Amino acid sequence: MYDVVIVGAGAAGLTAAIYAGRKKLKTLLVTGPNIGGETNTTNDIQNYPGYEGPGPVLMKKFYESAKKWGAELLEGRVLKVSKPKNFVLELDDGKKIDAKTVILCYGRERRKLNIPGEDKFFGRGLSTCTTCDAPLFPNKDTVVIGGGNSALEGALELARIAKKVYLVHRRDKFRGDEVSVEKARQEPKIELVLNHIPVEITGDKFVKTLIVEDVNTKKRKELLVQGVFSEIGWETHTDMVKGLVETNAVGEIIVDLLCKTKTSGLYACGDLTVVPHKQTVISAGMGAVACLEAYRYITGSATTGEYVK
Ligand code: NAP
Repeated sequence: MYDVVIVGAGAAGLTAAIYAGRKKLKTLLVTGPNIGGETNTTNDIQNYPGYEGPGPVLMKKFYESAKKWGAELLEGRVLKVSKPKNFVLELDDGKKIDAKTVILCYGRERRKLNIPGEDKFFGRGLSTCTTCDAPLFPNKDTVVIGGGNSALEGALELARIAKKVYLVHRRDKFRGDEVSVEKARQEPKIELVLNHIPVEITGDKFVKTLIVEDVNTKKRKELLVQGVFSEIGWETHTDMVKGLVETNAVGEIIVDLLCKTKTSGLYACGDLTVVPHKQTVISAGMGAVACLEAYRYITGSATTGEYVK
């Protein structure tokens, strides 16, 4: 029986593990292979107090601290969490783990385009992170897919580096903020390709074209590009905790100020929650809060009140 099982080892999970270690809780960190999570995709962190530099270096420091404080690490995928009395976590290899408290920190996944060429060209001209990879495309022809803030800001960022940026959106109204829409419309390097959906990425070893289709006429055209940036948003998966948590309209887990979910002893922090600011420092802070609350729950040392939405 673990005092606390932390699911996911990004900034939130690793911070929770450090706090759990310092409270001498028996702690298990269950994670996939990507220790460090989303922060690993950033090469230039400038807004984590006391640190400036690559994301993976910062996450390695988090990981080393978590290990130093005694967190046990298990590579695996949690399929289901239930709470007959204490918590039971079922893993994909059939293993079952008992826990007094569970902290969910497994983040969210980038939405996929689900078009031919997506898997083949990922990392070969196709990127899902404009901020991370724009510098790789100086004076190149590029395309950004999406109509939200990430796509708009990504296109503007790329315009500073690339020769040309197509911005492909499936509607004629943008989801992102008007300020960014206006900037994108005024940027001469950006060409808006509205009411078009991406249908295929082609190339040899690297990307050569993105084929797009007019949603009304179904006419297709080829955009000759070396870089394709898919910025079509995120999905939060909560199947494993179905019935134990409440979610908002986009599937994020609703937590209160103390990272509590609707189930006592079950906490959530970081990018999988409704907190709109998906930032390393915020995830780390939430990991700390969740663990301190888990400690109070386990020891009964203080009552922190019920979860209030
Ligand atoms: P998002 O707001 O969910 O936008 C995703 C965009 O991709 C939408 O325009 C959507 O089209 C389009 N899309 C979705 N699936 C598609 C598909 N299969 N094919 C083609 N297009 C598809 O995602 P986001 O831009 O990554 O932003 C996520 C959150 O972070 C938002 O709340 C955003 O405001 C926030 N954010 C904020 C800032 C900032 O404040 N500076 C910066 C970046 C992100 P539809 O519009 O037709 O649905």
